[in-house]
Amino acid sequence: MKLGISSCLLGTTCRYDGGHSRDKFIVNELSNYFDFEAFCPERLVFPTPRPAIRLVRSNGEVTVRTSNDDEDVTDTITEISKELVKKIEDNQLCGFILKSKSPTCGMERVKIYPDKKNGQSENVGVGVFAKELKERFPYLPIEEEGRLGDPWLRENFLMQIFAYRHLFEFLKSKPSFKDLVDFHTSYKYLIYSKSQSSYKELGNIVANHEKKDIEEVLSLYKVAFLEAISKKGSISKTYNVLLHIYGYFKKVISKEEKDDILETLEDFKKGIVPLIAVIKIIKLYTNKFDIEYLKTQVFINPYPKELALRSKVEAYK
Ligand code: SF4
Repeated sequence: MKLGISSCLLGTTCRYDGGHSRDKFIVNELSNYFDFEAFCPERLVFPTPRPAIRLVRSNGEVTVRTSNDDEDVTDTITEISKELVKKIEDNQLCGFILKSKSPTCGMERVKIYPDKKNGQSENVGVGVFAKELKERFPYLPIEEEGRLGDPWLRENFLMQIFAYRHLFEFLKSKPSFKDLVDFHTSYKYLIYSKSQSSYKELGNIVANHEKKDIEEVLSLYKVAFLEAISKKGSISKTYNVLLHIYGYFKKVISKEEKDDILETLEDFKKGIVPLIAVIKIIKLYTNKFDIEYLKTQVFINPYPKELALRSKVEAYK
């Protein structure tokens, strides 16, 4: 599994000042699960060290300028960004981690400076390379290293990456209508944890009332699925999914067991216990009563457990 990444996050000394922005979580943890393909647009067109560049609003337009002598380098940085993005092939990457705040790589809230001394700066910019990347791959999971410090964004991002890769592997296998029904069914609760209406929309595509051919259905399904997994989950939607799942075994367990499970669900909702505690109980009953439908749900095992993303109460809000 390959992730694109801003080179400086891996410790490459390609920043304007000859330094790097090595990120411990990426280098020490994510590298156990992903290969990285590194990109540094600036280093391809400027020497290192080099003058810092920044976004500047000039006559209403956002330009890229050197901070020492105000040279306009917009065309240079735009051209190399377009060239790099063009070289990335479809499905070559299953996600991208960008360096925050950079006028080239920053995904959002990059500072835009005013061109007049007394003007106000705005934190609403997007780096030139990041913009090209998002335009070319609108559904590619993309995050910044800074935002990945937030357990909720981290969990959502990694869940999205694994589902994204799963979808492309599935499409590559030349699936039949029956395969599509199975794939769709296995994602029921994962998509529910993001948006029930998205699952309904996907269900309508799979139902194929207009009798379209499989290629057309898969193509519609692909876009709707990628949109669905790009949505962020919430604690209340996840709680509702857990209640649905609890419904599969509530009739075959004792009153004490029911009370225990419901209390644990409430504790999850209140942020007292992490999701992994509830999942452990669900797995126990799923196996005890051999509930095949739940065993196939990706929601229960969306990524390697060693990532421990569901072990923090902060991962859900
Ligand atoms: S932020 Fe992007 S352009 Fe700047 S040094 Fe890092 S990889 Fe290179």
